[in-house]
Amino acid sequence: MGVLTMQNPATGEILGELAEATPDEVRLAMERARQAFPGWSALPLPERLHYLTRLRHCLAEQAETLAGKISADTGKPTLEALMTEIFITADTIRFYEKHAKRMLSPRRVPTPLVLWPKRSSIHYKPLGVVAVISPWNYPFQLSVIPALSALAAGNTVLLKPSEVTPYTGLVMEELFRTIGFPEGVIQVLHGGREVGQALVAAKPDKIFFTGSAATGRAIMKQAAEYLIPVELELGGKDPMIVFADAHLERAANAAVWGAFTNAGQVCMSVERLYVEQSVYPQFVELVKAKTAALRQGFPRQADIGSMTFPRQAEIVRDHVADAIAKGAVVEIGGRFDEDGMFLSPTVLTGVTHAMKIMREETFGPVLPIMSFSSEAEAIRLANDSPYGLNASVWSQDETKAKRVALQLETGNVCINDCLVSFANPHLPFGGVKQSGIGRYRGPEGLRAFTHAVSVIHDPGRQKREVNWYPYTEEQETMFVVLIKALFGRERKWNRQALLAAWREWKRLQE
Ligand code: NAD
Repeated sequence: MGVLTMQNPATGEILGELAEATPDEVRLAMERARQAFPGWSALPLPERLHYLTRLRHCLAEQAETLAGKISADTGKPTLEALMTEIFITADTIRFYEKHAKRMLSPRRVPTPLVLWPKRSSIHYKPLGVVAVISPWNYPFQLSVIPALSALAAGNTVLLKPSEVTPYTGLVMEELFRTIGFPEGVIQVLHGGREVGQALVAAKPDKIFFTGSAATGRAIMKQAAEYLIPVELELGGKDPMIVFADAHLERAANAAVWGAFTNAGQVCMSVERLYVEQSVYPQFVELVKAKTAALRQGFPRQADIGSMTFPRQAEIVRDHVADAIAKGAVVEIGGRFDEDGMFLSPTVLTGVTHAMKIMREETFGPVLPIMSFSSEAEAIRLANDSPYGLNASVWSQDETKAKRVALQLETGNVCINDCLVSFANPHLPFGGVKQSGIGRYRGPEGLRAFTHAVSVIHDPGRQKREVNWYPYTEEQETMFVVLIKALFGRERKWNRQALLAAWREWKRLQE
């Protein structure tokens, strides 16, 4: 059995040790989750939501303590932990309290006249046991929000947090215990890749995965063996396009925040900045000045904390070195002391799409800037990426901004803002291309934890239907008349033939 060391990446302080789940423990957890499912799914929605409300109250009461712990686990400033881990989770619970009923209630849908007198409806039923496998960059909200969504929809949950941030895993486990969820409804399995693989092998009814494209691919492969549905929330290389008519001061503030918040370890970080040529020199100067004003430290009075994962810091160093070797210019930053976890916020110019920094996910505090000379070029550059998670377009010309935004190959797009897509729980969130499969948040996101049961209901008073046996010549004539009348190019109906068809229809039913 492996042991995870819990360590503060910013200070190096050891926070403790945590045992990894064994394959037997994973199997047992699955059994408990299966046993808990009938009871949990049978609870009326308001009762399930009651547990979420309790959790919301806990988040509010313990906000500072929880943020402090997440901060210690990740190296992010406590303010970032408060805003992007606690606030957003509590806000999502509030959203479910208000809207889950509408999103999960059965829906009547229209029934075409030819099916009269039937009625049609869609019912949303939980899937069973949902496995949530989460990453280290927002270790709390990216675990708790999908878990709560699955629970609200009536599933039981097995959560495997990232082994890079095990302390947050422990914090979440304690929190769920405090809430007093019924036995087996939500369980946390600590550990790394092997525990994740054991969880998939335990055949959950759905896998909700957030992490890298490489792991997403591996999980999908393993899940294919058992035909387990997967939802993949993967990485990004998000473009930001700034036109000359944008509010440049606002756009520069956003570029700096969008690239460096959470030390750039955001799936939707601004990872590529394209600026219209006429304002390019001015914009680079603005970005440099704002970057120079940033304070790096931990955990308070700081804009940027440390990196969370040493291996990620290596990737960032490698991308920057590759860019410099290929001719990029370091405008500011670039001081990456050999083994330190604090990478200075870095702005690069002279970059091209031949460099890793413009093609691969960097996931660190680096902002590479390129210029463009036309709308078409900006769109082409933005779409020249294997990823498609989020993007932003900056212009005071609303028509142009929308026109460009809707030509970007992306799951989410912001106009005159960045990264904010996730903040509105009404909006579905997810990626295209290598950025993922599926959507969560919004009605689509909640229903993603259900399967839709289509119900069609006939009053059952007629002895047969027109399409049933025995097949007759009259029936055939009737269908020819109907097809021509309903779907033909000309709506010139042969009234007599239609009337005859209708009579035949009625006769067949009686
Ligand atoms: P990762 O893929 O290395 O690991 C994610 C999780 O998968 C971890 O819990 C890990 O233990 C587990 N895992 C690894 N191999 C596994 C396997 N074979 N089977 C089952 N589980 C396995 O990702 P990471 O480094 O933790 O997170 C960073 C990545 O996540 C970045 O690419 C980032 O863009 C992405 N991300 C995406 C979103 C989004 O919403 N689209 C949000 C945050 C992060």
